[in-house]
Amino acid sequence: MSIRAVVWGENVHEQTNQIVSDLYPTGIHGAIAQTLNAAGGITASTATLQEPDHGLTVDRLAETDVLLWWGHAAHGDVSDEVSQRVVEAVWSGMGFIALHSTHFAKPFKQLMGSACNLTWREAGERERLWVTSRNHPIAAGLPDHFSLEHEEMYGEPFGVPEPLETVFISWFQGGEVFRSGLTYKRGAGNVFYFRPGHETYPTYHDANIQTVLTNAVRWAHNPIARVLGVTDTPNVPVTQALEPISERGPRLHEDGEEGFK
Ligand code: ZN
Repeated sequence: MSIRAVVWGENVHEQTNQIVSDLYPTGIHGAIAQTLNAAGGITASTATLQEPDHGLTVDRLAETDVLLWWGHAAHGDVSDEVSQRVVEAVWSGMGFIALHSTHFAKPFKQLMGSACNLTWREAGERERLWVTSRNHPIAAGLPDHFSLEHEEMYGEPFGVPEPLETVFISWFQGGEVFRSGLTYKRGAGNVFYFRPGHETYPTYHDANIQTVLTNAVRWAHNPIARVLGVTDTPNVPVTQALEPISERGPRLHEDGEEGFK
């Protein structure tokens, strides 16, 4: 059975900027979905900010193995409810791939629990990505390093927690470096942050970038059934303890009570 991927696009600059719409006539999300669908073993569809529930209903997320997210100008327009829904889907086992300026997207910031800030410059610099984790499945089929002739610069320090693995680091013409491919586990979900992808450059048409995205979807897919009730916090009364115990001391809660959240 193929991996079910959803490519979420903010879809703002594609509508308002001629350069972006010329580069990505079907949207950044459309271009990425096309790449994934051509790869084999992946069935990719798209969702956008403008759809009801941003295209990410509870039912849709339940049928999504890996969610890719590209956002930039409209992070604040993403509803808190949908963001929380995405985070809980990740905790329950959905893969999540955060692309480029998604470092400031609501669900990514919540998953990281940190500022996610960085330095940046929009000057069309050459970016050279180095593979720093040999034989990592996300780097399969790539050379030791590859370049993008024009990219926005993101520089360290990147305000994210120490990752499980650093798969790529980037060097920029201006001298900065950046940890540009990072893996995390959040609950049962695999998370990958991948830096390149500024909307005024043809980054998602680059063959190496397309290889990374395809590999990342396969890596992030967790084939095990989702964790149900991932935020449940059940009270276990004394009478249901595995070993016999007797109650001691004063108490605040009644048996079986929901408790505070
Ligand atoms: Zn950018």
